[in-house]
Amino acid sequence: MRSTPPSPHRRDGSPVHVHARRSLRVSADSASRLLRCGQSDRCRDCGNRIEWYHRINEQPVRLHPDELPAEKVPSTCHWHVSRGVAHPAGDGSAWCRLPHALLCPAREALPAAPELAGLRRALAVNTRRLIDRGAFVPSSAQPNVETSPTTTCRPARPVVQLLYIRYLANRPVDEIQCVAQTRRRRRCTSPLLTPQSPAGVWTLVSTTAVRGQLPLHGEVMAVYALTHLHYADQLRWRAQRCPEHAATPTAPDVTVAEWEPFDPLLHHEHIRSRLPTITRRPGPADRSRRAPQP
Ligand SMILES: [Zn+2]
Ligand SMILES: [Zn+2]
Repeated sequence: MRSTPPSPHRRDGSPVHVHARRSLRVSADSASRLLRCGQSDRCRDCGNRIEWYHRINEQPVRLHPDELPAEKVPSTCHWHVSRGVAHPAGDGSAWCRLPHALLCPAREALPAAPELAGLRRALAVNTRRLIDRGAFVPSSAQPNVETSPTTTCRPARPVVQLLYIRYLANRPVDEIQCVAQTRRRRRCTSPLLTPQSPAGVWTLVSTTAVRGQLPLHGEVMAVYALTHLHYADQLRWRAQRCPEHAATPTAPDVTVAEWEPFDPLLHHEHIRSRLPTITRRPGPADRSRRAPQP
C-alpha cells in the first residue's frame, strides 16, 4: 500500500484546484529572446499604451496593443505577429496589428491612412486626459540636461557610439540598466557600466548625419564612445546586459533594449556641444582603496 498526500479540500468537501505556477521560458529555436509577458509600455511622446515586438534584422517596433479589423485598415499598414516576431504584412486573417507610429497623436498624421483618423483622435483625447491628471509628462517637456550630487552636468539622453553606430540612449550613461530576467523573474537592476567594467570616453565629434545625409554645418557634439572596447564588450552594451548576464546567454530578456538609432536631424534637441562634467560614482574597489588603514 502506498500513502498519497491528502489533496486539499474545502470545508464542503469539494476539491481545491491548485494551479501549478508555470515559468516562462524562451524556446531554443525562438527568433526572439524577449519574454512575451509584460511587454506593455507607454509611448514617451503621447502616453498611450504600446506593446514592444522584435523584428527580423530590424529595430524593435511598438505596436498598438489591440488587433483591428483588417478591412478597416489600409492593406499597406497591416502587420501581424508570428512566434513573437512582428512582420509588416497581413497574415490573411480578418484581423491585423498596427504600428503605434501610424496612430501616435504626437506625430504628424499620415495622409495615407485617413481611415485611422478616428482611432488617432481617441488617442489624442486620452493624451490630453493623462496630461490633465498629471499622469503623463510629454518627453518634449522634460529637461534635456540633469544635475545631481554625483554628476554636475550630464545629458539625460546621451548619444552613445558602439559598433560604429551612434545610438540615442533613453537615460544617462550610468543609469542604463540590464534588460535580462533574474532568477526571481524580475528585471535585473544592475547597470551596464560597473566599476569593474571598462568605461567609455566622452569625446567631441562632428555631427555627421546618418543614411548619407550631409553633416550639420560646423556643429560638434558630445558622444560617449565605446568603440575602443573589445568587440564582446560592445556587443554586451548593444544587447543591454550587465557583465553577469552577458555571461548567461540563456537568461531571457524582460524588455527590449532601449537604444534608438541616432539621427542628428530628428534628435537635434539632444545634441550637446560641450563635454559633460561627470564624476563617476565610486565603486567598491575605489571605496576600499580610500578606506582608512587600521
Ligand atoms: Zn505615441
Ligand atoms: Zn543583468
